[in-house]
Amino acid sequence: MNKKDMVDVLVVGAGPAGLISAGFAAQAGVSVLVLEKRKKPGEKLAITGGGRCNITNELGLKSKREFLAKYGDAAPFLHSVFARFSVADTVSFFEKLGLPTVVQARGRMFPKSEKATDVREVLLNFAKSSGAEIVVSSPVRKIVKDKDGFSVKTTDEAYFTKSVILATGGLSGGKLGSKDGFEFLSDLGHTVYSPSADLTPLKSNEKFLKSLSGVSLSFMQLKFKQNGKTFLKKTGKILFTHFGISGPLVINSSHTVKEFLKKGKVEASINMFPDTSFEALDKRLVKLFTTSPNKQVKNSLSEILPKSLAEVILRRCNISFERKSHQILKEERKCILSQLTDFRIKIDSLMGYEHAIVADGGVDLKEIDTKTMQSKIIPGLFVVGDLLHINRPSGGYSLQLCWSTGAVAGRSSAEYVSVLEKS
Ligand SMILES: Cc1cc2nc3c(=O)[nH]c(=O)nc-3n(C[C@H](O)[C@H](O)[C@H](O)COP(=O)(O)OP(=O)(O)OC[C@H]3O[C@@H](n4cnc5c(N)ncnc54)[C@H](O)[C@@H]3O)c2cc1C
Repeated sequence: MNKKDMVDVLVVGAGPAGLISAGFAAQAGVSVLVLEKRKKPGEKLAITGGGRCNITNELGLKSKREFLAKYGDAAPFLHSVFARFSVADTVSFFEKLGLPTVVQARGRMFPKSEKATDVREVLLNFAKSSGAEIVVSSPVRKIVKDKDGFSVKTTDEAYFTKSVILATGGLSGGKLGSKDGFEFLSDLGHTVYSPSADLTPLKSNEKFLKSLSGVSLSFMQLKFKQNGKTFLKKTGKILFTHFGISGPLVINSSHTVKEFLKKGKVEASINMFPDTSFEALDKRLVKLFTTSPNKQVKNSLSEILPKSLAEVILRRCNISFERKSHQILKEERKCILSQLTDFRIKIDSLMGYEHAIVADGGVDLKEIDTKTMQSKIIPGLFVVGDLLHINRPSGGYSLQLCWSTGAVAGRSSAEYVSVLEKS
């Protein structure tokens, strides 16, 4: 261990937050070393947005206030960091790197190429061409603060550095997740909220789901209930899977559902025709069954629903598939009607980290100076990205957090080092 070879800024983790911070620190003229535990940098980044990478959200270009509100309780802490590196800065940052963005449904912004691997490539080039050195297959095991700075130990090496940017991410993404950063932070004296999977599909053990796997329904109204009382109501697309329900609407409800599951049983209720009154829907069914009276009821119902869903509904109402439409009794029609407007699914749990886009938990924001992302407890330590305890919805809000906290920490760590040298 040679203290003469001390690096100015050592970044732990080459994910989106680590790579952008390394680039900005190096651009400010300090020496930067990035240690990445996996063989390749940015592996989680490369699978984001279904391989297309939802970089950020247009809402940040339209209303800073509404954008900030998406981060819930963390919003007051994030004002300064977004003021220093905003959504507009993100868009022009990628544009300058040769990666223009496009806006898609719900304001989600993607690279025009729709390739998450392109985002990884340009970020990697940005960090390297700014002067950062990146060493892969180097898992950091321990970080110790001493009076001269930090010693950072991997399995085979020990590095000395004046400043550390901790960017090891969280537990989302199954095998691409890491809890190392939480342990380092806790060992260094920080308060760390234990992580739990968040923003995941919902798991249900209902047997009928197997036959609905792959069915996707748009413009549904989804309610979540506990003890008969609705605690959450949303409208959008629902995707049935072999394990439960998914889709952005469901994933963005999972945080609240998780809180209610701690208190008791939760049921989902789907209204498949939210814009049609009960009476109008009943008339529609009557018309459907009388226009082709000899058609099997399963086939009539399949005109307004996916066939597999029509079968589940008929089974729930004890109506044989082969019955002729004109044979359907009034009570049976009422049962179909109630299934169409209040289709219940028992929710058992959230899916685990493997399916999580975000795992909540992380360092308490009160212990971080969010103007610089520097720890208030350990001078010279900067914390970025998924290591911060911040809830947010899907839609590009997680990666924007990486760009903003990373860029700010990169610049601030370089400033910290230059102040240190002058003193
Ligand atoms: C399937 C999926 C899809 C997603 N899609 C989107 C999306 O479209 N838009 C969006 O905004 N967000 C999305 N997210 C969330 C987003 O990927 C994360 O918020 C983001 O990757 C966090 O970046 P990070 O740099 O903090 O951590 P990470 O991306 O997790 O990177 C951390 C890096 O640190 C390395 N590391 C960990 N421990 C150590 C150690 N001890 N030593 C050295 N290196 C270490 C890791 O190997 C990794 O390379 C998605 C997440 C998942 C799982």
